[in-house]
Amino acid sequence: MLNAPLPGTLDVRKAASRGVTVQGSLQPRDLPRFRELLAGDDGEIQASLDLYRDEEGRFVLHIVIEARVSVTCQRCLRPMPLSLRSDSELAVVWTDEQARHLPSHLDPLVQGEEECDLRALVTEELILALPAFSYHEQADCNTLLAEYAAPTEAEKEADDGAEKRPNPFDILAQLKRGDTHQE
Ligand SMILES: [Zn+2]
Repeated sequence: MLNAPLPGTLDVRKAASRGVTVQGSLQPRDLPRFRELLAGDDGEIQASLDLYRDEEGRFVLHIVIEARVSVTCQRCLRPMPLSLRSDSELAVVWTDEQARHLPSHLDPLVQGEEECDLRALVTEELILALPAFSYHEQADCNTLLAEYAAPTEAEKEADDGAEKRPNPFDILAQLKRGDTHQE
């Protein structure tokens, strides 16, 4: 595991001319737009960037990101661990016009004179890698709902009293509210 933080910005053309490798780690809270899509702050993101010039003289950035994060299971609404991996070869270009003429194995990174914001780049790559919906394995999921749906003997007896057993959908709604209020 790499522990040094990823640099904030990089002159990607200069780095590609020199054939530099840049590596570092990030936490989900370092990437607010990505963090919004997660269930919590826990996790680790490792990024490795290989910069070089290809045979055509293009400035190329090969970026590999591995992340372990926590997302919300869309079935039971509880957090679940998720591993993400992203592997992209980006060609540094000045304009959208240049971007359109890249060979298919290269994705464009439109970059002006200013240094590239590496956190923004990692954020984009992670958001692309994140599945739209995540679910626990069936065996690990639904246990909470099942527990609420099937009353225990003690609960059955308690049901004879005035208190009604909670509706599982009310509990789900409470859990959902709880999640958003944890911020
Ligand atoms: Zn689940």
